[in-house]
Amino acid sequence: MINFDNSYSKLPDIFFERINPVAVKEPSLIQFNDPLAKEIGLNLEKNENLFSVIFSGNKILKGSEPIALAYAGHQFGHFVPQLGDGRAVLLGEIINNNGRRFDIQLKGSGQTCYSRGGDGRAPLGPVIREYIISEAMHALNIPTTRSLAIVTTGEMVSRETLLPGGILTRVASSHLRVGTFEYFAAFKDLENLKLLTNYAISRHFPNIKNDDFRYQNFLKLVCENQASLIAKWMHVGFIHGVMNTDNTSISGETIDYGPCAFMDNYNPNTVFSSIDLHGRYAYGNQPNIAQWNIACLGQCLLPLINPERNKAIEIVEEILDGFENKFRQYWLNSMYKKIGLLKNNYDLIEELLQIMNQDKSDFTLTFRYLSDVIGKENNSSNFLNQFLSKNKIDAWLVKWKESIKKENRPEKEIKKSMLKMNPAFIPRNHRVEKVIYEILNNYDYSYLDHLLQLLDKPFDHKQHDIEYMNPPDDQNQNYQTFCGT
Ligand code: AMP
Ligand code: MG
Repeated sequence: MINFDNSYSKLPDIFFERINPVAVKEPSLIQFNDPLAKEIGLNLEKNENLFSVIFSGNKILKGSEPIALAYAGHQFGHFVPQLGDGRAVLLGEIINNNGRRFDIQLKGSGQTCYSRGGDGRAPLGPVIREYIISEAMHALNIPTTRSLAIVTTGEMVSRETLLPGGILTRVASSHLRVGTFEYFAAFKDLENLKLLTNYAISRHFPNIKNDDFRYQNFLKLVCENQASLIAKWMHVGFIHGVMNTDNTSISGETIDYGPCAFMDNYNPNTVFSSIDLHGRYAYGNQPNIAQWNIACLGQCLLPLINPERNKAIEIVEEILDGFENKFRQYWLNSMYKKIGLLKNNYDLIEELLQIMNQDKSDFTLTFRYLSDVIGKENNSSNFLNQFLSKNKIDAWLVKWKESIKKENRPEKEIKKSMLKMNPAFIPRNHRVEKVIYEILNNYDYSYLDHLLQLLDKPFDHKQHDIEYMNPPDDQNQNYQTFCGT
């Protein structure tokens, strides 16, 4: 039994299509996230056969009201008025013991009226990828949708080749996106736009529900959450890869793990996605794009914010102008903690990043190993020297240590705080690919189990798994990611 408490399906019919997942031939559960099930208050006794039919959508539980959600979106800057869940179905919402509400959605669950010629399915590879990376993001303390289950369908999906099909059960604090607002704004459907905004406020920002200026405050809060989220991505070298407005969540969670990947060597121009030809969604461009996406939301909200258009524009522009500063604050706050300082020292951070860029040094490990030289006379670190040319980094290390000294904190404490800010384990692209390869070719799930275990505690040092911290030997310069559609 799942105690569904559905609120979205009570909205007018224009918000969604009522549709059941399309049953699959031979559903088989291959992965289930027990801790997440507990966290969201899912009280189901584990039973593989039952879970296979539930999390494939072959069996619809009592209380579930399956719907595919309508939304629009700007994709690579171009507006598409009707996107929507073309291969996903929301089974319903549940509320946990702390009163938190979660969407339970199947992704890869068959065609809907929003499929636009697509088959509504997902290949198993990208499903595994989303499971690993979204759970890794959660363990890195980054807001994200979660992954509850993976089911194989027993059917093949046709892409360039035939690939085994999979279904992911995604858990999110909602699936509201900037694109949902664009959907109603494009149709100039003010009534439903207002209904949607009030719904989003009640669900995500109930504190401002009765504010006189709630619509502009809503925009401000979305802006705040995005600034905080993107800063967190930047701190771990995460590149989302497809920051379209339909992939920008209102809750401030990372959503849509299509072509995303973690950067190995530091370069702000890094792009992995095969379709991002002009680097619109490059690592260093992510804050600008987030601001652009919020501008799209602001545009939709204009008529709600003030009936006088010029006044509304002024208000929205002021909020948008604040994004840069907010992002910078969030970004700096953790950057100086990453280098073990209590106070901001922008020049020091900027200089380090420049050296890292010139030396093509590994983003994750440079920060992780930095604390090694604290308390050492000669600044030598076997690890750091792997990535950084000695003459450049040595001068920096001297300045850095002076700043540390000025703050007069115990060395042990600094080291400890740095290791908490700088992960040892991220889902390295070559490791994720290996897991997928072993599952698809050898039905070997042990690599998945092992990688998930390491990524679950990304800040813990594990001597016997030290090679899992490393970038690939060949630096995977040409690593490419795909949307996984
Ligand atoms: P995404 O790139 O996953 O953000 O998807 C963009 C849009 O394409 C969304 O409306 C998806 O529902 C839709 N879409 C992606 N893949 C498929 C598919 N295999 N079948 C139908 N619709 C899809
Ligand atoms: Mg999407």
